Amino acid sequence: MTGTSEGHRLDPTDWSAFEADLHRVASACVARLRAARELPWQAPPEDMAARVAITGRGMPTTDLFDRIATDIMPHATGNTHPRFWGWVHGTGTATGVAAEMVAATMNANMGGRDQGGAEVERAVIKWLHDIAGWQDGSGLMTSGTSQATILALSCARMRAFPSVRADGLAALPEMRVYIAAGGHSCVKKALEVMGHGAAAIVQVPAPMGRMDVDALRAAIAADRTAGRHPLAVVGTVGSVNLGTYDDLNALADVARDEEMWLHCDAAFGFWTRLADAPWRDLSKGIERADSVAMDFHKWMAVPYSAGAVLIRDETLHLATFRERPEYLAAGADGLAGGDWWATDYGLELSRSFSALKVWATVEGLGMDALGAQITDNCRQAAHMGDLAQASDVLDLAAPVVSNLCVIRPLQGEASALAAQLQLSGEAVFSTTIVDGTSCLRAAIVNHRTTTVDVEAAVRALESAARAA
Ligand SMILES: *Cc1c(COP(=O)(O)O)cnc(C)c1O
Repeated sequence: MTGTSEGHRLDPTDWSAFEADLHRVASACVARLRAARELPWQAPPEDMAARVAITGRGMPTTDLFDRIATDIMPHATGNTHPRFWGWVHGTGTATGVAAEMVAATMNANMGGRDQGGAEVERAVIKWLHDIAGWQDGSGLMTSGTSQATILALSCARMRAFPSVRADGLAALPEMRVYIAAGGHSCVKKALEVMGHGAAAIVQVPAPMGRMDVDALRAAIAADRTAGRHPLAVVGTVGSVNLGTYDDLNALADVARDEEMWLHCDAAFGFWTRLADAPWRDLSKGIERADSVAMDFHKWMAVPYSAGAVLIRDETLHLATFRERPEYLAAGADGLAGGDWWATDYGLELSRSFSALKVWATVEGLGMDALGAQITDNCRQAAHMGDLAQASDVLDLAAPVVSNLCVIRPLQGEASALAAQLQLSGEAVFSTTIVDGTSCLRAAIVNHRTTTVDVEAAVRALESAARAA
């Protein structure tokens, strides 16, 4: 039970009983992680909404934890399962679960002020700079790549038009941002919320999933002639559809020649930099980018949600976001001190300590294990591709470049086959369209997948296709 008198209303009255309950929750969590292989996605119960409707009555912690364990915990997306390869879903680690509990216990507000967590976040950003091959730079943890993209493109716009913070868009030219066809929709959304509209995005042809650099130069020239301002080129570092990588050095050359910003969408592809050859070289040139966005919650298996943005120019980064009214003024000493306030680098003031679960993952599991895991997934995707190619009822829709394998069924219809395997619990593929035909798509960012899983899933897909 919780307390009943002033100052005690929201904490447990019996801490020992709470501790016992928390141990039971911890056991239920560990049991679930341990049994991940037996727990594929299942459709949520029909009465899910009714089960969780808010009553607001309060209940003893024991009952509450039981309800969470029975009514909520089982009904997840199933991305903790070893044969989940739909969309780009991370699998989460036990290490991350523990770190989340500690972060909640500290309840640190990571917007600023003089606290140790700020150094944890800065250590994570510094580590990212090292992986990117940057000597220095700025950055911030975000909720994901979508938010990171808004921050990065805002810095790009600030560099080109320093008046934008004071005066808004009224006096500015129409802007254009270039991305390979098939690049992620978060860039379009960013431009929409920034007030440029969907018209500001230019999809450059991308044969085999790679931006055509001549077409990029031509598009920029045409826009200049029309009086528009080419603001940024976005390099795709691991495309969602095919797992392809733009030639970042070629894009950096264009950005240099045209005095444009180079942003890299490296949501999951950033992590191929930790893998063995040849995958580790896929993002060569990222060291020349002005900004990079990446996620921890996909291929680094950090529990949702956690991403980051890197910005090369710290002065520009601060100029874009720093805002300190009197109630946020820094103090020389005391809690209002501290050199580095996260809120100066982004949109949020109050923010969670998501840096801890990243820090714990890297420090706890180590870079060798994380890198080997990335390599495993790339090998598994290649193997899946070989099996599809060898099959008489399946074909490979596009070459496997990294961790994505896209399979064209020669019998049956892709979305029906995907749904069938999802419902049976055999495997989760998502679907996409390649060259006008519907395909099954596996994005393997799953640290629980084995080669046996890949083989079993392809067999299941083959028999479903045969029966179709
Ligand atoms: C997932 C993804 C995004 C969006 O990232 P979120 O973390 O989901 O906001 C952007 N680009 C690519 C390539 C992605 O895979």
